[in-house]
Amino acid sequence: MRKGKTFILCGPSGVGKGTVVARLLAQDPTLYFSVSATTRPPRPGEVDGVHYHFLTREQFEEWIAADEFLEHAQFVGNCYGTPRKYVDDAMERGRDVLLDIEIQGAEQVHRKRPEAVRIYIAPPSWAELERRLVGRGTEDMEKVRSRLERGRQEFAAAKDFDYFVINDTVEHAVSELRAIMRAEHCRPAERLDMIDRY
Ligand code: ADP
Ligand code: 5GP
Repeated sequence: MRKGKTFILCGPSGVGKGTVVARLLAQDPTLYFSVSATTRPPRPGEVDGVHYHFLTREQFEEWIAADEFLEHAQFVGNCYGTPRKYVDDAMERGRDVLLDIEIQGAEQVHRKRPEAVRIYIAPPSWAELERRLVGRGTEDMEKVRSRLERGRQEFAAAKDFDYFVINDTVEHAVSELRAIMRAEHCRPAERLDMIDRY
């Protein structure tokens, strides 16, 4: 059986990564979403083990010491990390894996696994990003400002990604993401079994 591929989704906080991931998963249940660990407190409606593994700082440090993370980074005062085991298990079972992670984490995964596909998700404008982040209502204004600032600083790195997708409407972004994922599976390196049969 062919192995799954890893798709890294990056982009400023509030751009809609979680929203497009939820839509992708609803459309294709074979996709596997990598549930990250974080020290951030849960937002209303977030479920432990579904949206994140919510850990204390001490637990997070223990996971680092036990080498549980494929990557980990700090983001606006909290720690976030991708548990390696679930990602590897899903890929071994042939499932494509989605990582919703920030940019330092994406760089770490890229160094370790250059075959992972990196997709930058951008807002239609900075004003619209602010509207979305404020509208989500999950952070106070100081945190909103830190997140917006961080998003703008990191935008320079967008050019280094494999793909650039604008989340203007969710439908449009999801359709481009599905096209990217489809095309990535048409690379000859992904189809050596077919090629070898000729
Ligand atoms: P992220 O995971 O990137 O931080 P979210 O998925 O939480 O972002 O989205 C932030 C806010 O923007 C949410 O309130 C969400 O409903 C809204 N949103 C997401 N995508 C769009 C879109 N294409 N158009 C308008 N609002 C959107
Ligand atoms: P939030 O607090 O809004 O859920 O996430 C804040 C940022 O952390 C987002 O940019 C999100 O992509 C990123 N993030 C979530 N999980 C991980 C992870 O496992 N590793 C890294 N490096 N970033 C993550």
